[in-house]
Amino acid sequence: MTVGFIGLGNMGLPMALNLVKAGFRVQGFDTTLAARTAAQAGGVTLAATAAEAARGAEAVVTMLPSGPIMQLVWVEVVPAMTAGALIVDCSTVDIDSCHKAHAMAAAAGLVSLDCPVSGGVGGATAATLTFMAGGSGEAYARAEPLLAAMGKARTHCGEAGAGQAAKICNNMILGISMIAVSEAFGLADRLGLSRQAMFDVASKSSGQCWSLTTYCPVPGPVPTSPANNSYKPGFAAALMLKDLRLSQAAATGAGANTPLGAAATQLYEAMDKAGQGNRDFSAIFEVLTGVKGSAMA
Ligand code: NAD
Repeated sequence: MTVGFIGLGNMGLPMALNLVKAGFRVQGFDTTLAARTAAQAGGVTLAATAAEAARGAEAVVTMLPSGPIMQLVWVEVVPAMTAGALIVDCSTVDIDSCHKAHAMAAAAGLVSLDCPVSGGVGGATAATLTFMAGGSGEAYARAEPLLAAMGKARTHCGEAGAGQAAKICNNMILGISMIAVSEAFGLADRLGLSRQAMFDVASKSSGQCWSLTTYCPVPGPVPTSPANNSYKPGFAAALMLKDLRLSQAAATGAGANTPLGAAATQLYEAMDKAGQGNRDFSAIFEVLTGVKGSAMA
């Protein structure tokens, strides 16, 4: 099976290489020379344009920075594809762009899926991503062999847009919960409670969550968390801000009340404005408390 892959960046490149390893013939395109060179070295056949990468492919995957860019690429790619072929967008994008893309595909007789991912660059490299899909049952069934080659978990969340909705809601929980855990450690510090004691109790109590037990924002209790590595990402604060902004745009459009999502967005905006967007998002601990994560550990 031939797959067109457009957007060979931090996530897209390892995903495309996992398709190659699984035996798919991958035709790739990216606007960046470095991405093209790395993809070619890994066995991807390079195309001169996005349309060329899509031509003749039974399936096309896009992995791009934003909804507007994804739409621009789909405008070019969709007409180049054969009617009946499958197109899957794995980028994290706004709900409006997602619906427009599905409509574009349907008008051209293509089968489409919005299928954002969770798991980061590590998951993309190890083929352990989690996929959340929106689209018809047929689109999901046809995408399954591709998703199986790039990840280990997948959920068909519903019709068009449901995958993006799931991604946006999940990451709003993540942004809020990281702030909650950071505030609790900041308060614990002030109350003279050791971080290890705070962790030992909360990780076995009702405060337990992924931001605490897997991605603990202070060094010590979870040795693999970015806090132990000078907050090197991991998941950059700028990407968390992107996802929180998408959650707020979606909430406004849908009339949902998300006061904590709004507050989390403001706090990550402040972190980004302070020039810390390229640090791991768990460094919000330092922004909130003014305490260096390594101090008082
Ligand atoms: P990235 O910036 O590393 O990669 C995007 C790639 O798209 C770049 O190589 C860029 O050159 C290319 N590109 C831009 N415009 C293009 C065009 N018109 N035609 C072809 N290529 C074009 O970003 P990433 O970290 O790989 O993220 C990709 C998507 O995955 C984003 O939507 C992001 O929100 C989402 N995501 C990222 C992570 C993560 O940890 N990095 C985790 C989950 C989801």
